Amino acid sequence: MSIDSIDGALLKRGDSKCELCKSDEDLSAYDIPPITQRSLDKSILVCSSCLHQIEETEEMDPNHWRCLNDSMWSEIAAVQVMSWRILNRLNGLGLGWPDELLEMLYIEDDVKKWAMANMRPVDEPTVDINGVPFTVGCSAVMTKDMYITGANFTAKRGAVVKNIGLTNKSTSIDGNLNGFRIVLGTGYLKII
Ligand SMILES: [Zn+2]
Repeated sequence: MSIDSIDGALLKRGDSKCELCKSDEDLSAYDIPPITQRSLDKSILVCSSCLHQIEETEEMDPNHWRCLNDSMWSEIAAVQVMSWRILNRLNGLGLGWPDELLEMLYIEDDVKKWAMANMRPVDEPTVDINGVPFTVGCSAVMTKDMYITGANFTAKRGAVVKNIGLTNKSTSIDGNLNGFRIVLGTGYLKII
């Protein structure tokens, strides 16, 4: 498919609306990283507001992302992947509702693998306290007690963080601990 026809097909698929928030303003195609070749399956149609917040992770407006309540039910894998990634980012802010949505979000295993795929350049690996690189789905043990603000509990030294995923920063990972999906600094984790 040529680039023009991908964008045309995206507009059609999204009914000329942002596939995340349904806005029809300033739409463009967003290719979900990591990407080697553009394809319709790996693109979503987004408005400028969604795009800005996807790219500038420090400028997230949580209220804007209430739209994921609807868009996460999309049958399109690419929309599920972006919903999952954004909800995981929001999850670190201690809001509560993103975690509830994540628990409800139905996502096939292979789509989840894609969602968890490394979003950063490969020359910047995420490593544990011993310099061992994290891999998607691995487990690690806490090397110190740490209070988790968003989840309101203390992760104890020795606790095991499972099903680890990479974040868009090399200094943190996310993983499951005590039934929560939380973001943790890599400075307190040892891969097991
Ligand atoms: Zn939007």
